Amino acid sequence: MATNAAAKTSFHMSPEEFRQQGHAVIDWIADYYKRIESFPVLSPVKPGEIRASLPKEAPAQAELFEEILGDIEKLILPGITHWQSPNFFAYFPCNASGPAILGDLLSSGFGLQGMLWATSPACTELETHVLDWLVTALGLPEKFRSSSTGGGVIQDTASTANFCAVLSARERVTNHGSNRTGTRQKLVAYTSNQAHSSVEKAIRMAGIGSDNLRVIEVDEQFAICPSALAAAVERDKRAGLLPFLVCATTGTTSSNGMDPLAEIGPVCRLHNLWLHVDAAMSGTAMLCPEFRPLQRGIEFADSYCFDPHKWMFTNFDCDCFYVADRKVLIETLSVLPEYLRNKATESGEVIDYRDWHIQLGRRFRALKLWFVLRYYGIEGLRFHIREHVRLAQQFAAWVQEDKHFELVVPPPLNLVCFRLNGSDELNQKLMDALNQSGDLYLTHTKLNGRFVLRMSIAQTNTEQRHVEKAWKRIQEEASRLV
Ligand code: PLP
Repeated sequence: MATNAAAKTSFHMSPEEFRQQGHAVIDWIADYYKRIESFPVLSPVKPGEIRASLPKEAPAQAELFEEILGDIEKLILPGITHWQSPNFFAYFPCNASGPAILGDLLSSGFGLQGMLWATSPACTELETHVLDWLVTALGLPEKFRSSSTGGGVIQDTASTANFCAVLSARERVTNHGSNRTGTRQKLVAYTSNQAHSSVEKAIRMAGIGSDNLRVIEVDEQFAICPSALAAAVERDKRAGLLPFLVCATTGTTSSNGMDPLAEIGPVCRLHNLWLHVDAAMSGTAMLCPEFRPLQRGIEFADSYCFDPHKWMFTNFDCDCFYVADRKVLIETLSVLPEYLRNKATESGEVIDYRDWHIQLGRRFRALKLWFVLRYYGIEGLRFHIREHVRLAQQFAAWVQEDKHFELVVPPPLNLVCFRLNGSDELNQKLMDALNQSGDLYLTHTKLNGRFVLRMSIAQTNTEQRHVEKAWKRIQEEASRLV
């Protein structure tokens, strides 16, 4: 029912109504989490169904908040794929948690824009501080700390972090000439055939051209071959090209391959190549010292990123991006118009994060990260990460014990790549049947040309019983198909 606009002196929500409706929204979210396992994990709606249920035009008259919230249940919920369901095993995690949601809510409440230190000192200083905490917590090199030559910044996503790394590497090798005149040199970059698609996108956007991205072969663990990398760099140098960047991955999206940084690093040093390490999906595991051998050689990195919005229980979006030399990044991205000049910036004593990323404006993302780190504590985070890895290793053992299935590669952490013995079509059918059942959601990849199922065990609330049920359902559907 529409309210009478003529009688109103303001259309804003008063603080008292905000309090009341805010409680209703929090109640709704808490109830959603309580009943989340009752929904089909993958939304069953058909293309266009959600739009067809919405009014053709925006409402001319104000609507009651109760009606708007009611439509979440009626119109939106059917079109939600439940990433926060403990039966979500698809793609990679995109974890939420209570403390992160509340931290994000406070960020919305402040509604600040932290582009400069001066536009909210706490927004900048908390971010710098929390990112320094993570240098210790993840066993990252000291040069990434703000008190050293480098520092960390929160980016929206790993894709943007990868792009910033490519731009910085381009500017370092061209002595900031590309920013002035466009890129005149014949630059070449290197990555593996398992790297995330955002690497190629970054290379395109930076004007390098995807033909100048060398896609290097991988070994049987899906890690880049350092000898093939070195040979490609030498070949390009002989041909008069200018190699400038290696994008390595610790935890590839498709296969969880771990590029050997300790062997790639010396190649980069020898040829003066920027080494960027993309740990978007698996970096969180490095909170646990026992997994850090997987990032051996990280001290060679010029830049690094990981996504707390994937596996570290921090609501999307939140990527932590580190550089070893902040001067290069800042010189690459800084343009200072008159209207942003201020005393604090000119003093040289503060960080202005607008110079550390693509966009000007920025939200107070550090709040949710701070809440997560304090609410769980590093030990609490380690507890859940270890549990996910244990469950994945157990799942892999069940796959190996069942003669109908093949474990495609031993999982280094929490992503299990496996397939039902038989054709690609059979595996596609198995995946479709499972996903259509609504009981769980998993996705696929292609490894060595074959269709492979991926079981990513990392959702915030996934427990032993969910993984057991998933395996039982996989076996049941498989026995119907073979
Ligand atoms: N890099 C890796 C290794 C990933 O697994 C992903 C996720 O798909 C990305 C980058 C892109 O993540 P984002 O959505 O944060 O850009």
